[in-house]
Amino acid sequence: MSTWPEVDDPAVIFTGPSPRGWHRLQQAAECLQRYAWSYENGPKEDISKKPPLAIGSLIHLALAQWYSRMKQEQEGKNPNEFMDPVEAVRLVAQVQGNEKHVANVVETFHNYRKRYWQDLNNRRIVAVEVLYDGTLDPGPMEALAGEKSYRLTGRLDLMYEDLGGRLIASDHKTTGRLTKRHKEYFAVSGQMLGYAHIVRQKHPDLASFEINLIQHAGQGDTKFERIFLPRRPALEAQFVARARDIEKSIELMQAEMAAGKRKVDEWPKVMSELGCYHRYGACDHIDKCMYGADAKKGGSWSWAD
Ligand code: SF4
Repeated sequence: MSTWPEVDDPAVIFTGPSPRGWHRLQQAAECLQRYAWSYENGPKEDISKKPPLAIGSLIHLALAQWYSRMKQEQEGKNPNEFMDPVEAVRLVAQVQGNEKHVANVVETFHNYRKRYWQDLNNRRIVAVEVLYDGTLDPGPMEALAGEKSYRLTGRLDLMYEDLGGRLIASDHKTTGRLTKRHKEYFAVSGQMLGYAHIVRQKHPDLASFEINLIQHAGQGDTKFERIFLPRRPALEAQFVARARDIEKSIELMQAEMAAGKRKVDEWPKVMSELGCYHRYGACDHIDKCMYGADAKKGGSWSWAD
């Protein structure tokens, strides 16, 4: 039982996206037109109420509060400086209008805590939801040619030291259904390569990158698994150069827009069933691509073989 005093205004941690994260580069790599709909077509659509995002973000919040309290305890400080995880989830869900996900998130968090209660003794928590602000620097020849650096940011869920004192970066991933393929997905993910790149810029001694997989309680049982990503020498060696290629392709299209040579609906389209219909369903912009920039979602068409 905690003997620490209550605190009047305990902290609730921000777990939202970072200012210049990988997501925009991924969109552009997958389809430049998708990038243009998202970033060059007026204010960004609010997607915070989409169930996978709303649930994932509330689970991230519960874990951020839990690990921040754990860090305080390990350092002999008052854990109540940070709001209780379940209270924080209820508060933020109410503010966001996402109350219908609270029962799922609280059950998932309780089961997670039961499964990993030994984290308190097995890990020294170094940082929680920490923003890394890194760079994609030009190679020597590009630098000589006067090319600039690009910014790449990422909000890392957790940094900890294991019992051997090795520094580990950890990213929580929530899903409705955990599969054996998740390890393969994340091994090729630019987001993970990007995180590892910017974390290593600050901590060259980073020993490993962990994916903390969480199947939430929405469709039945919770499941948890932790995997360490293998090193991928070819991909890691090329990551910065390829990310810079994507930035340059965006800049080229933007310059053509500014010169009046290209409109927002005229960026290169992937036009592939695998790109336009990914594993979560149809691309959000499919109607605009098919019917024009003013088309509404769910346009008047249906499949007829
Ligand atoms: S529908 Fe296809 S072409 Fe259009 S933005 Fe989406 S992925 Fe790109």
